[in-house]
Amino acid sequence: MIVEIKINYDKCTRCKECVKACSYGVLEWLDDLPVVVNPKSCALCLECEKNCPVNAITSERAVSAYDNSQDIPEPLEKHIELFRNASSHQY
Ligand code: SF4
Ligand code: SF4
Repeated sequence: MIVEIKINYDKCTRCKECVKACSYGVLEWLDDLPVVVNPKSCALCLECEKNCPVNAITSERAVSAYDNSQDIPEPLEKHIELFRNASSHQY
């Protein structure tokens, strides 16, 4: 699972509290802005959100191509198995 941390730069007052609050190295201070540099390390602790005085941060779960934590749906699993069996035949 990947968590998408979104920062609304229109609201952000550049107070740096979110970067200080993140213990997982997800947020960094770059060019006078908080930036999500390492989303895969997010522990969804929500400390960044809680510490933002202007509610400029929101978080949501995001499924991506990197996400292998989800089970493959059963019909697809069957299809893969059929494909594997067919591929193992010698012609
Ligand atoms: S939710 Fe927690 S781990 Fe993720 S960016 Fe915010 S403070 Fe860092
Ligand atoms: S805590 Fe909120 S206002 Fe402060 S730098 Fe982070 S996003 Fe911007």
